[in-house]
Order: sequence, then structure tokens, then C-alpha cells
Amino acid sequence: MKRAVLASANPGKLRELAALVAPAGYELLSQTALGIGSVAETGTTFLENALLKARHAAAAAHLPALADDSGIEVDALGGRPGVRSARIAGAGASDAANLARLLEELEGVAEPRRTARYRCVVVFLRTADDPAPLTAEGTWEGRIALEARGSGGFGYDPAFIPAGERRTAAELSAEEKNRVSHRAQALARLVATLESPGVYSRP
Ligand code: IMP
Repeated sequence: MKRAVLASANPGKLRELAALVAPAGYELLSQTALGIGSVAETGTTFLENALLKARHAAAAAHLPALADDSGIEVDALGGRPGVRSARIAGAGASDAANLARLLEELEGVAEPRRTARYRCVVVFLRTADDPAPLTAEGTWEGRIALEARGSGGFGYDPAFIPAGERRTAAELSAEEKNRVSHRAQALARLVATLESPGVYSRP
């Protein structure tokens, strides 16, 4: 098994990403378990923030690093909260507080106008100063439920109904979510790049 550090303190992401990279022969170590703190997410895009997190974790762990920056884009809110998804109820807010805040902001918005998507950008660095980071993106279309349901997943999953589903993402099994999610799509693209011939393989 090859080892890489996951540049995140989010246990939900660790669970999903560890399962997604295992078939490609990678074991993910969480930066939290290695005693590495978080870096300020000062970028204005998912890609900038993913790169910031990956460089920080790779430098501190002296290991290849995988970072995921993700969020939910709600059309009725002009694409918000987007890169600010982890903190719409304030810096350090819990998933439950952010979810309650999102539902509050959408009060009175009728079902057809509650369309949204999750977006995930992943970055893989072989070393902290890797000049050729591998990047990939995935999106998952759906809509925001009128109220939260289900206990699986994390974050906004209790309020996210994937397109073509009646259940929320929190009512899907972990395997079902990992077959179709924004994160699964981004990871599949990243792994395909990592394994394709001719991809620069050493920093
Ligand atoms: P960040 O990537 O650390 O900035 O945080 C992403 C935030 O987006 C998370 O804290 C969640 O609120 C939300 N998010 C991203 N992916 C998911 C998902 O798969 N399910 C639910 N919420 C998600």
C-alpha cells in the first residue's frame, strides 16, 4: 500500500476518501492523526483552497498529500455558499448549525427553485513543492429538501436530494453515495490521471 496524508480534519471526508482511494492502492493517513493542524482557507476558489491545504499537509508530513475542497452551490442563492460552505453559520460552526442556516435562508423558496449541486475539487501532490499537481473536479446535481432527513454522510447530506432520487444523501448507504457523489467522480478522474501513461510521475 502506498501512503498519503489527507489534508483535512473532516472525518466525513476521510471516511469517504479512504474507501475511494483504497482500490488504487493508497492508504490515507489523516493529518489530524499525524498532529498536523489546519491551514487558513484564504483562497477564493475550490482549487486554490485545495492546493493550499495539500501543500501544507505534504510539507508537514513529508508524504504525498491528497486534498479535497468542496461545497454546495444553491441556485436560488446565486451559487452560495460555495467555497464558504463549511462556515455559513460562522467560523468553526458545526455541520448542524450550517445546515439549519441553509434551510432558514431557503424558507419560502418553492421546490422547483431549490436546485443545487455539490462540487468537489481534489488535488494530489507527490511532494510539498511538486511543480505538477494533479487536479480533478466532480459535481453532483440535486435539490435542497424542505426539511432535513437521514443520518448518513455528513454536512448538508440530510438536506440534499440527488437528482432522480426521493431519498436525501443522508438516507443513502455509504456505498451508494460513494458510487455517484461529487467526491467519487473527482477521485475517479484523479486516479485515472495518476495511472495514465505519460503522466509526469516524479516531482
Ligand atoms: P471544506 O472543503 O473543508 O471547505 O468544507 C466543505 C464543506 O462543504 C463541508 O464542511 C460540508 O459542509 C460541505 N460538503 C462538502 N462535501 C459534502 C458532502 O459530501 N456532503 C455534505 N456536505 C458536504
